[in-house]
Amino acid sequence: MRIQHDYPNSYYAETLGAHTIRPTLANNLNVDVCVIGAGLAGLTTALELKRQGKSVALLEAKRIGWGASGRNGGFVSAGFAGDTSEMLRRLGKEDGKAAFQLSVDGVEYVRRQIQDLKMTDVLDGEGYYQVYRYDDAQDIKQQHTDAKETFGQDISYMNTQETRAQMKSDRYHHAHFDPNAFNIHPLRYCHGLAREIERLGGQIFEDSKAEKLTRSGTFWKISTHGGEVTSRHVVLCTSAYDFELYPKLSRAMQPVATYVMTTQPMPETLDTAINTTASIADTRRAGDYYRRLPDGRLLWGGRITTRQNAPFQLADMMRGDMLATYPQLEMAKPSHAWAGLMGYALHSMPLIGEIDDNLWMATAFGGHGLNTTAMAGCLIADAISQNDDRYKLFAPYRPKWAGGLFGRAGVQLTYWAMSLRDGYDEKSGKRH
Ligand SMILES: Cc1cc2nc3c(=O)[nH]c(=O)nc-3n(C[C@H](O)[C@H](O)[C@H](O)COP(=O)(O)OP(=O)(O)OC[C@H]3O[C@@H](n4cnc5c(N)ncnc54)[C@H](O)[C@@H]3O)c2cc1C
Repeated sequence: MRIQHDYPNSYYAETLGAHTIRPTLANNLNVDVCVIGAGLAGLTTALELKRQGKSVALLEAKRIGWGASGRNGGFVSAGFAGDTSEMLRRLGKEDGKAAFQLSVDGVEYVRRQIQDLKMTDVLDGEGYYQVYRYDDAQDIKQQHTDAKETFGQDISYMNTQETRAQMKSDRYHHAHFDPNAFNIHPLRYCHGLAREIERLGGQIFEDSKAEKLTRSGTFWKISTHGGEVTSRHVVLCTSAYDFELYPKLSRAMQPVATYVMTTQPMPETLDTAINTTASIADTRRAGDYYRRLPDGRLLWGGRITTRQNAPFQLADMMRGDMLATYPQLEMAKPSHAWAGLMGYALHSMPLIGEIDDNLWMATAFGGHGLNTTAMAGCLIADAISQNDDRYKLFAPYRPKWAGGLFGRAGVQLTYWAMSLRDGYDEKSGKRH
């Protein structure tokens, strides 16, 4: 089949393996629910709706998992992009804890799909280290106690010596380890979900951008260049990639880019630096995140910008970041480098709920979407199929104008200010 849009050149696209290319919508359809955007939010929502007997059409402008969902670091861990203490303040203690538990359930959901749908080539590694670049044992131990006491998180604290036995860098001082997190090949996972949606009778259309959304009596009509879908419910899962379909939502989204590089395979060299297949991220406000890949490469991610295009010489830039932490990887040669856009709301928390009659949103997962898209897909599918109202936990997080170009400039300035503060923390050995 001829396709207009293919995946960007990434390690994930190159190692995806044989997969189906879905047709473009070329006629008119009537379904119970039209889901727009086949990232992880749209795929999970469509799958859970199918499991509850709804007829579903999933429209994707480009390819399944073409956005952030097929380009990310692959870390599946509990929590949100937004700060959890701020979440407790906004939602209150009880609802804040319930929301956090939903994010934990999102992690388990992904694990269960991988097992139940026999996605044998998706799980890459277990566990997640959060590493600290400032040496303040008291503060870091206190954060550990807070996470355990407030959210019941099963994480352990590691001192500098234990940390450096795993991550052999003198940049690191302490770490927290979460054994329940894991890492995946996200694009294969997207395709695994898509296969199951189709097995259950759901219809997926690629190269089928939803161009217009209109109300017709109690139904919605969604037009693409090739056809039209009429449905009672619509779920918007378009993240940072749509600017016009439903302006109230797109105006609330701030696209933020982040970057990833993979190296050529170098298992022995990697043994001199990183002794684990768990994922690793430092706690700077926009720090490095990385993991070993099963074929002996290193995946290295980091930085954020509000530019939409990848910076010039991206691979060299990422390699430089890697060497600043692990000079022993001097021999490493980049194999791929790519950018991806994350959708952020002003409060950095997901936008989940009903924004108009039977018009739903599951979006704005920011840099922590692998578990939260699963959570949101289940909440929205249950709301549509069973009138379940657990999604209302997120009602305090409404879509508000994110400031357009001014907002974007603000994000960039905030990032630069945060980077300065991170550097100061590192030098002074304390968090500010
Ligand atoms: C480089 C990078 C690294 C990351 N690392 C991690 C990580 O390790 N762990 C983690 O938890 N999170 C991570 N994230 C965040 C995570 O990937 C996202 O939060 C999550 O994938 C968002 O999923 P989504 O379905 O909301 O959006 P997307 O995956 O962006 O999907 C949106 C889809 O909607 C489609 N679309 C848009 N408009 C239309 C339209 N009008 N009609 C039809 N289709 C449309 C797009 O083409 C796209 O496919 C990372 C993100 C990036 C970019």
